[in-house]
Amino acid sequence: MKYIHKIAGKLLWLAFLQAFIALTASTQLSAQKIYVNTDLEGISGVYKFAQTREKDTPLNIQACEYFMGDLAAVIRGLRDGGAREIIVLDGHGSQCVIPHLMEPGARYVTGLPRPGAGNLSELDSTFDAMVMIGFHAMMGTPDGVLHHTQSSRTENRYWYNGVESGELVQNALIAGHYGVPLIMVTGDEATCREARHFFGEKIVTVATKKGFSRESALLYPFEETRKALYDGAKRAMSIIASVKPYKIEMPAKVKMEYKKPAEGNASPEVVTVEGVASDALHILQFERLRQDP
Ligand SMILES: [Zn+2]
Repeated sequence: MKYIHKIAGKLLWLAFLQAFIALTASTQLSAQKIYVNTDLEGISGVYKFAQTREKDTPLNIQACEYFMGDLAAVIRGLRDGGAREIIVLDGHGSQCVIPHLMEPGARYVTGLPRPGAGNLSELDSTFDAMVMIGFHAMMGTPDGVLHHTQSSRTENRYWYNGVESGELVQNALIAGHYGVPLIMVTGDEATCREARHFFGEKIVTVATKKGFSRESALLYPFEETRKALYDGAKRAMSIIASVKPYKIEMPAKVKMEYKKPAEGNASPEVVTVEGVASDALHILQFERLRQDP
């Protein structure tokens, strides 16, 4: 009788083990819908505002081609890593998607105006993860190529609950609102450093260049960055289950600064705005309580 108990116990264990393995496998299989949030400043070969600010100049069109090349490498990596549905967001203000260069296996959101907090159209809780490619460090980062937060011309800066934050955090918070974790960030070395600082060492980062100053960089060749982008995207698919959505305490205290252009030779005036964001969807359109001057 004791012997039978022992066998029954072992069989029970085996059944538990099988159920556990099946559950883990199904979690991985369902980890397949990915939101690719993009920007232009952190793309391979981009290092000056003449490439990013004016739409449809020869330099800008060329930069958008660089963008499509980096994007294609990431899409291929995500798909080979198990992604079955990919939505790409054309996140740079002047828009970068060149339709005839679209890599198959994804859908592309482009053009303005469009719905969604922070213009992140189509993003919702059905996504398993978000990746951010071509991004840049926050305003004021000395070695951040084309560093800025939201507006490079008025030099905006943002603090949430007293912590200065850039576009990486702002976008991760909106995704976090929907329970979507951030698994990968690409840009210059300063952007990758900022990503690891806020999101932890586990996040996959791929650097496309190293900045010397705002418009000067040590560029890495396309063939090398695109191989790294492909490998990084494929690896990022494997960390989905171990990364948590990014959140901060809400409602959040917001402070924002920007420079108001002055007339003639006078130096620009710094305007400070204070307010509160009720949730992550209002991180940019927050309720304004005070303004100085
Ligand atoms: Zn941009």
